[in-house]
Amino acid sequence: MIKESVISELSSILSNKRIGTSREMLKAYSYDGTTNWISEPDVVVFPSTAEEISAIMKIANTERIPVTPRGAGTCLSGGPVPIKHGIILCTINMKDILDIKKEDWTVTVEPGVVLMDLNTVLGRDGFFFPPDPQSFLSATIGGMIAENAGGPACLKYGVTRQYVLGLQVVLPTGEIIHLGKKNYGTPGYNLADIIIGSEGTLGIVTKAELKILPVPQARKTILGVYDDVALAGENVYRILENGIIPGKIELLDNWVINKFEDMMHIGLPRQADAVLLFEVDGTPEAVETEARGINEIAKRYGTREVRIAADADEANKYWMGRRAGFAAVFGAAKTVMAEDVTVPRGSIPDLIQNCKEIANRYEVEIVILGHAGDGNLHPSILTDADDRQHYERAEKAMDEIFSCAIRLGGVISGEHGIGLEKQRYLKRGIEPAVIDIMKNIKAIFDPNNIMNPGKIWE
Ligand SMILES: Cc1cc2nc3c(=O)[nH]c(=O)nc-3n(C[C@H](O)[C@H](O)[C@H](O)COP(=O)(O)OP(=O)(O)OC[C@H]3O[C@@H](n4cnc5c(N)ncnc54)[C@H](O)[C@@H]3O)c2cc1C
Repeated sequence: MIKESVISELSSILSNKRIGTSREMLKAYSYDGTTNWISEPDVVVFPSTAEEISAIMKIANTERIPVTPRGAGTCLSGGPVPIKHGIILCTINMKDILDIKKEDWTVTVEPGVVLMDLNTVLGRDGFFFPPDPQSFLSATIGGMIAENAGGPACLKYGVTRQYVLGLQVVLPTGEIIHLGKKNYGTPGYNLADIIIGSEGTLGIVTKAELKILPVPQARKTILGVYDDVALAGENVYRILENGIIPGKIELLDNWVINKFEDMMHIGLPRQADAVLLFEVDGTPEAVETEARGINEIAKRYGTREVRIAADADEANKYWMGRRAGFAAVFGAAKTVMAEDVTVPRGSIPDLIQNCKEIANRYEVEIVILGHAGDGNLHPSILTDADDRQHYERAEKAMDEIFSCAIRLGGVISGEHGIGLEKQRYLKRGIEPAVIDIMKNIKAIFDPNNIMNPGKIWE
C-alpha cells in the first residue's frame, strides 16, 4: 500500500480531480483488453504534462513505488495490468495533436491521442498514419509505440516502428530526455528504437514525432474464397512472389467466417474453409491492374472464387467484419487464449496444418485469423479457465503452437507483446547472451525496477 503522505504529494502535483483511489476506479484499472490478469493499483493518476510525469516518477523512484503506464488499456498481453500494484499512470488526458507539417510529412502528438482521432484530423489534409491495430477506435499512440503495434496494413506500410522519428521520454528517475533525430538518422546507438516495443518497462513516452503519408488516391477490396485454409496461406506468398504488394492481406478461417455471418450477415461464404481479404491501394490505374492481377494469380493457384468488391460499401462491409474479428472470438468462449505468432510467409501453410493437428490431438478448438500478409497469425484457443482439464489441454496446445512457430523460423509475438502472458516462453528462440543484454538495458534505464515491473521479465 502507498503511504497517505505519498497520495497527498501526488495530489498536489495533479490537483485532486486527476487522481483516483475509489474502489470503482481501482477496479476499472485492474485489467486490460482481453487477458485474465487482474490486479488493482493503489492509485490512478491522469497527468497532463511531461513535467507532471517527471515529478510523479521522482516520488515513485525515491519511494520505490511501481508505476504502470497506461493508454486505453486495449493490450492483449497484460501490459497495463498493475501486477505489482502501485501507481497507474494513465495518459488519456494528454491528447493534443501538437503540430502537423504537411510539407515534411510529419505530425507531433501527445501519447494519449487515439489513433482514430489522429487519422480523422490528418484525413482533412489528405494524410494518414498507416499502422492500424484493429483497436484503432480507442488505442493510443503511446500504447502503440510501447507495443510496436501493427495491423492489416503492415504488409505494405510496416509497423509503428517505421513511423517514429523522435520521442520525448520521461525516465523512471524523472529525467526528461529526447531521442531520435527527425529525418536525419541517429548518431550513436538508436535509443528511440529501444523504447519502441519496450512495453512501458523503460520509460514513459510523453511526446512523439511521427511520419505520415498521403492518403492513396484509390483502393479496392478483393475477397478470395478457399476450400482449404492452408491453400489460402499459400496464396499469400503466391500473390507476393508475382510482384503484387497489396496494402493489406487478412486471413479468416471457416469458424470466423460463420461467426461474422451470424453476427453481421455480410455475405461471406459460409462453406469456405477460409477467405483472404486483400486491399490494393494507389493510383486508380495501379489499383485496377493489381486487382486484376490478384484475380488471375489467385485462380491460377486454386482459389475457388474471387470477388472484387463493386464499391466502397461492399468493401467496408468486409473490413467491418474483419475489425469485429476479436470481438467475435472473445465472445465465443469463457476463456480465449488469443496469440499472435509470426512465421516467414512461406511457412504459413505449415503453421496452419500444425495448428489443425495440434487441435485434434488436444481436443480443443483453434480458430485462426490474422494479418497473413506479413506472416502474423492469431491462433486462438477457445477454452474455460474454470474447467481445469480443458484449460490444461489448451495450455499444452498453445505451448506447441509457440514451439512450432519458432521451429519454422518465426517468433512468439509479432505485435501483441510479451507482457504477463508470454514471459515463460520468452527465452525460447532467444540466445541467453541476448537475454542478458536486454536485462542489462532494463537495469540501466530503471535501476530500481519501478517501471512496469513484472512485465516481459518475471
Ligand atoms: C479488439 C482488439 C484488436 C486489436 N488489434 C490489434 C492489431 O491489429 N494489431 C496490434 O498490434 N495490436 C492490436 N491490439 C492490441 C492493442 O490494441 C495494441 O497493442 C494497442 O497499441 C495498445 O494501445 P493502448 O493505448 O490500449 O495501450 P495500453 O493497453 O494501455 O498499454 C499497452 C502497453 O503500453 C504501455 N504504455 C501505454 N502508454 C504508454 C506510454 N505513453 N509510454 C510508455 N508505455 C506506455 C503500457 O504499460 C502497456 O505495457 C488489439 C486489441 C484489441 C482489444
